[in-house]
Amino acid sequence: MDGTDTATPPVLILLGPPGAGKGTQARMLEGKFGYVQLSTGDLLRAAVAAGTDAGRAAEAVMKAGDLVSDQIVIDILRDRLSEADCAKGVILDGFPRTDVQATALDGLLQETGQKIDAAISLDVDDAAMVERVAGRYTCGSCGEGYHDTFKTPATSGVCDKCGGTEMKRRADDNAETVGDRLKAYHAQTAPLISYYDAKGALKRIDAMGPIDQIGIDLSALVQQSTN
Ligand code: AMP
Repeated sequence: MDGTDTATPPVLILLGPPGAGKGTQARMLEGKFGYVQLSTGDLLRAAVAAGTDAGRAAEAVMKAGDLVSDQIVIDILRDRLSEADCAKGVILDGFPRTDVQATALDGLLQETGQKIDAAISLDVDDAAMVERVAGRYTCGSCGEGYHDTFKTPATSGVCDKCGGTEMKRRADDNAETVGDRLKAYHAQTAPLISYYDAKGALKRIDAMGPIDQIGIDLSALVQQSTN
């Protein structure tokens, strides 16, 4: 940046507990606006699968539904943010989750002359989250999300989108672990709602209704925030 450039790539943050729909909506926004979805959960799962040092350190913590250490997550996010495709703009899904991570993000964006266009809280009732999370699964080929009750494929076991037949469930998407993940959210992540409110970046959205309607409301908010 040379100081005269005002149009920096947009940075959007999605805040909300597990099950709020951050991943689903981030993928929708990626398709619609061309921004890149950055999910630290996905990056960590990839590190676990690849058996990297970070992945080995994170695996048991993730299984227990606790938060992985700030340093590991910040390092992973910094590396990913420096990749060329992030110049299209990013949607942060699951990051930041602590005040240390929020401060680190501010520092990273300062280095590149970027700002947070909006931190959008997906507001949901906690009580509904356990059922939402415990029933969800994805297509192993294209990542399309499904749910035992709320969104089943037209033909059982076959992805509507790509025809894939290998469905996957996350190891931490079970009723017991979701309770711990919700606790971690309220103790460490929910305070960030006030952090972004104080910066004037906070937007809120009712995320209890139908997925398509939430997508329409969210798209309108993103449009407004990035103009
Ligand atoms: P998610 O896919 O966002 O639900 O994340 C799954 C798990 O990955 C979480 O329960 C945490 O153990 C870990 N994780 C993901 N993102 C973060 C983060 N920003 N900080 C700490 N732990 C994280």
